[in-house]
Amino acid sequence: MKKGLLIILSGPSGVGKGTIRKKIFQNESLNLVYSISMTTRQPRKKEIPNVDYFFVSKEEFEKSIANDNFLEYCQFVGNYYGTPKDKIEKWREQGKNVFLEIEINGASQVMSKMKGEDIISIFLIPPSFEALEERIRRRKTESEEVIQERLAKARREMNKFNGYDYVVVNDDVNRAANEIMSIIINKIESNK
Ligand code: 5GP
Repeated sequence: MKKGLLIILSGPSGVGKGTIRKKIFQNESLNLVYSISMTTRQPRKKEIPNVDYFFVSKEEFEKSIANDNFLEYCQFVGNYYGTPKDKIEKWREQGKNVFLEIEINGASQVMSKMKGEDIISIFLIPPSFEALEERIRRRKTESEEVIQERLAKARREMNKFNGYDYVVVNDDVNRAANEIMSIIINKIESNK
C-alpha cells in the first residue's frame, strides 16, 4: 500500500485554520486523520479533551520533550504546543493522510525534518490584518491581554510563508476549504 501524505496547515493564530480543517474533514474520500496536539493551555469552553487537544500540565509536557515524544513542539504566548509522533508513521503506513494544524515554528521544524517525504505544506493567510483581528475578537475566548499578544504575534507572522508549497487566502471559508481540498486531491492523485 502507498504510504499516506503528511499535510501541514499553518498560518497566524486566528486566521481560521480550525474552521477550515473541520470543513475539509467532512470529505471522507480524502482519507484524513487529524493529529491531535498536546498543549499546556487551559481548555476553552467548547473544547473537548482528547478530541481538540490533549490538555496536560507543564511537567507532563516537559517530560514528553525529555522522552523525545514530539515530531515538533513550540512555545506560543506562554504555553507549550506539540505534535506527538507515536502514531503518525503508523497511520501513514496504513495509507492514511495525516493532517497537522500547527503554528509556523512547528511547521518549519517538520518541513526541515521530513524533506523529500510526501508532504504538502499550506500557509493560510487572512485577506487583511483587520479581518484577522475581527476573527480573534469575535471568538471571545481570550482575555484582552492574551488577544493583544496573539495579535502582535500574528502581525509578525502574516508574511512568513516562504518555503511553503501553497499559500491560500481565507477570504471565504468555503472557497478556501475547497481550494485546499483540490490541492490535497491533486497530491493524492500524483502520489498513486
Ligand atoms: P490555540 O491556542 O489558538 O488553540 O493555538 C495557538 C496556535 O498554536 C495556533 O496557531 C495553533 O494552530 C497552534 N498549534 C496547535 N497545536 C500545535 C502543535 O502541536 N504544534 C505547534 N507548533 N503549533 C500548534
